[in-house]
Amino acid sequence: MFDSTAEPALRLCDVEVSFPVRRGFFSAAGKLHAVNKVSLDVARGEFISIVGESGCGKSTLAKVLLGLQPVTSGTIQINGKNLADYSRKELAYQVQPIFQDPYSSLNPRKSVAANIALPLILSEKLTAREIRKRVHEIMEMVSLPIRFEHSYPSQMSGGQRQRVAIARALITRPRILVCDEPTSALDVSVQAQILNLLRDLSRRLNLTSIFISHDLSVVRHLTRRVAVMYLGRVVELGDSEEIFNNPRHPYTQLLIRSILPPDPTYRLPPVTWDGGGPDPTNPPPGCHFNPRCPYATDLCRTALPALIKAGDAHVACHAWHDIDAWRAAGGKTPQLS
Ligand code: SF4
Repeated sequence: MFDSTAEPALRLCDVEVSFPVRRGFFSAAGKLHAVNKVSLDVARGEFISIVGESGCGKSTLAKVLLGLQPVTSGTIQINGKNLADYSRKELAYQVQPIFQDPYSSLNPRKSVAANIALPLILSEKLTAREIRKRVHEIMEMVSLPIRFEHSYPSQMSGGQRQRVAIARALITRPRILVCDEPTSALDVSVQAQILNLLRDLSRRLNLTSIFISHDLSVVRHLTRRVAVMYLGRVVELGDSEEIFNNPRHPYTQLLIRSILPPDPTYRLPPVTWDGGGPDPTNPPPGCHFNPRCPYATDLCRTALPALIKAGDAHVACHAWHDIDAWRAAGGKTPQLS
């Protein structure tokens, strides 16, 4: 169980990451704000999800946390120390990644044991016997039979490969795990096993885990807190059950409506109110969601809403209170004309 009163394991303050973009040969260079003024505290031992569609900035945020992408402005603190002040080796002992595709993240020419041991060989002066002992311990922890130690990644299933990747991430005993869509390349039948493994390991080792996903249905029972991102910004943040039962931001409502119920006889609703995604290099003024939002007003088209407390969650929407009251009175989500 995490302690939300202690110093956070991870503190993001107004983090911004932008890239120069040029839309045409003769046009002036613009900026793509992949991550835009994101502030977030994550407690030690907390398992939090960051969700949103492709291009919302969640994977850029993962790269930033791993030290693979510098921030344009803002600060990130890991266990009270600025990320920029960590050496690469120190950072490897604080944060480790688990990526989407275990096959491309493992070295196909090295055995399972060598893949798992790689971070130790690079950074610790341990004897071969000590390294082998640590590898065996960690293989047991991720339920990977020791007989696989001399196998190669190509001889394993997708789920087994992801267990190797998890073991490699844990071998340095990091404090924080950044899981970037760790199950989306796996068969549905294996996904649940890997998700359960990640959740159990996080609890057992008191790891702080950042779980990045485009799929809201995956995170519902996995994490206690969810941050929903849209075009680089956090638009809703709160307890996962609160977000699922009472989504306040219209974009979160859209994501939840897009989850199909597990019923083969279910037919897709004939109309959606999604007006399509905007160009991230040229986001609309005001609230970036306004072209897709059925509740948009003139204020929404000119003023960017801040992330503010809204009931038991935090929401970036000018109209959250009216939408909440209207839904509580039995109103249905309107359709775009
Ligand atoms: Fe919709 Fe306006 Fe809220 Fe943006 S601020 S989500 S446009 S109601």
